[in-house]
Formats: sequence, C-alpha cells, structure tokens
Amino acid sequence: MTRGVVILGSTGSIGTQALDVLSHHRDEYRVVALAAGRNTELLARQAAEFDVPADMARACADEPEVLAELASLESVDVVLNAVVGFAGLPATLAALQNGKRLALANKESLIAAGPVVAKARAAGGGEIVPVDSEHSAVWQCLRAGRASEVGRIVLTASGGPFRGRTREQLREVTIADALAHPTWNMGAKITIDSSTLMNKGLEVIEAHELFGVGFDRIDVVVHPQSVVHSMVEFCDGATIAQLSMPDMRLPIALALGAPNRLPEPYGAIDWSTLGRLDFEVPDLATFRCLALAYEAGRVGGTAPAILSAANEVAVDAFLGGRIAWTEIAAVVEEVLSEGAGTADEIGDVLEADRRARERASVRALTRGAV
Ligand code: MG
Repeated sequence: MTRGVVILGSTGSIGTQALDVLSHHRDEYRVVALAAGRNTELLARQAAEFDVPADMARACADEPEVLAELASLESVDVVLNAVVGFAGLPATLAALQNGKRLALANKESLIAAGPVVAKARAAGGGEIVPVDSEHSAVWQCLRAGRASEVGRIVLTASGGPFRGRTREQLREVTIADALAHPTWNMGAKITIDSSTLMNKGLEVIEAHELFGVGFDRIDVVVHPQSVVHSMVEFCDGATIAQLSMPDMRLPIALALGAPNRLPEPYGAIDWSTLGRLDFEVPDLATFRCLALAYEAGRVGGTAPAILSAANEVAVDAFLGGRIAWTEIAAVVEEVLSEGAGTADEIGDVLEADRRARERASVRALTRGAV
C-alpha cells in the first residue's frame, strides 16, 4: 500500500527537497496533489515527473481555502504544509481534523493558533510531525527518555549573518546582508527571521505547542555551525543531542516515514573534517525579536498570533525597502504592546491577525517616513 502525499508549497525550498526525497520512494509514496504559488512552470514540471493530474497541481498557495481542500482529500495520508506564513492555517486545521499526518514546515499556523490547532488535533485524531530541523531534533531526542523525565529543551540557533554585531553596527545593514545566511539556504521570509532571531523566537513558541514544555524550560543557545540541531536535557542531567550536517531532507524524510527512518543518509557527518563545535548565549539586547517572542509566548492567547502577524508585515516592509532592519523589532514591539485577548476559537485568531497586520502596516509606514 502506498501512502498518499500532498505537498503545499511544492516549488519552495522545502517542497523541492521533499520531492527529491520522494523520488527515491516511489514504491511507498505517491504524490496526490501539489500546490504552489507563482512558479507555474516548475509546478507543471513537478506534476509531470510525479504523475500528478493537471487538476491536482494547483497554483493556489495564496488561497487558504483551496489549500485546506487539498489537505482534506480522502486519498491523502500525509500533508506536507510548507506554505509561507499565516495562509497555511486552514490547511493545518483541515489536515488534523481529517485525521491526517501533518508534516509541519509552516510553523506560523501552529504559533498563531496553538490552542485552536490543539483542539483540531484532539477532535480529528491527526498527528503533527515537525519538519523544522530543531523540532525534528527534539522529537528524536525525546525518544531517549519518558515525557515526565524531560528537564528542558535546548534549541540551537545559528545566530544568522549578524551574530556578534552590536545594535549600532546593525543600523545600516542592507537587504542583501540580511539575506546572506551562513549555513542554511532558505526562502526570503525565514532568512530575514533568522537574521533577527525572530525565527528562533517563533521556534520557542512552536516547541512549547508541540511538546507541552513551559517557556521557563525552553532555552536557546547560539551554535554557529548548525550541526547540533537541538537537545533535550533529562532530569538526571543527561543531555541528548541530534547532530547532522545542515540538510533539510533529513527532517523531511523523517516526517514522512516516522516512526521509521528512511534508509538514505542525508547530512551524515565526516568527523575527520568536522572540527570544532561552538556554543554561546544569545544577545537579547541586540536581537530583541527573541525576547519579544518569549514575552508573547508567556502572555499566550492571541499574543503569539499578533507577534507573528506584525513580524510578517515588518519583514515585508524591510524586504520592500520601506523600513530599516533594526525597525523590524520596533514595529513588532509596538503592535504587541497594544495587548492581546483569548484565542479559543479560530475567529479570535483571524481577528487578532487582521488587526495586528493593520496596525503593523501603519507603524511601518510611519517609521519608514521618519
Ligand atoms: Mg528551524
């Protein structure tokens, strides 16, 4: 029996690597549907290569309801949600409500709507397997002990292109500077988030939602080589880490095959050339986005949705040349300071998202004008 897979965001960085993994497993997995954005030429080529009928290869990445329809298809067992941003939420909910495995690369949907996603998971019987490399690492490390034995989760961060710089030095950075990630090759939004450490902040909230560990027991350590992908410290002091060279195909393959490991090695370490591994504490004064994410996570309710939405708008404004890099955190902080509410229903989250975007756009405009 082959397992049906739908890939939402098939022409992006995660989507193309997922298809590369799947090309080695045509006997076990069949691609049922593909969804992409503007790159219709690549989408058509992917559909031809994986025998996906034309009406199942859709350029609908910015149509959340169509993505949700594809995630609900009866012939689908695994939904790889790799669309960018909040638009991935309906597909996340649909996958879980319909009892699918959700291979989650779209962290924003879980972060913005944690309690609502948890309800959908409980009601529909779906499961989430993280594709994010840090959470995949934690997921693997957790196998070394019982849930009650977990002391803390330690997420590693590469530190991005601006590691070691001061706030003063970062006032004049360009878009190209921020897009030059030292270890990972990813899409523009997540690369900017890595440069501000907002990506790590979002991942702290993601870890809280996935593994049910409190914010006081989730730490971040900067590890520039990106070889240790994260760690779990157990109650007896033992720390278990997952190591591999940076290669997203490893977590993607694990999310497809879990609880089994697929047999191709991705990112295996050559110890004769690896050299050293460094660790340092993050600079929360310079990279304020990380501190803001902890704050939003602790407040809970709609605060993570507001954080994530304001950040999407601010990153967009930075990429459009409308605000400076240092103002991304400023915009997020201002919008977040206006307060949050409860997030029991999807409507609460949608409304918080909408208002945060509106406010962030205004803030970005006024900041850009100064
Ligand atoms: Mg990550």
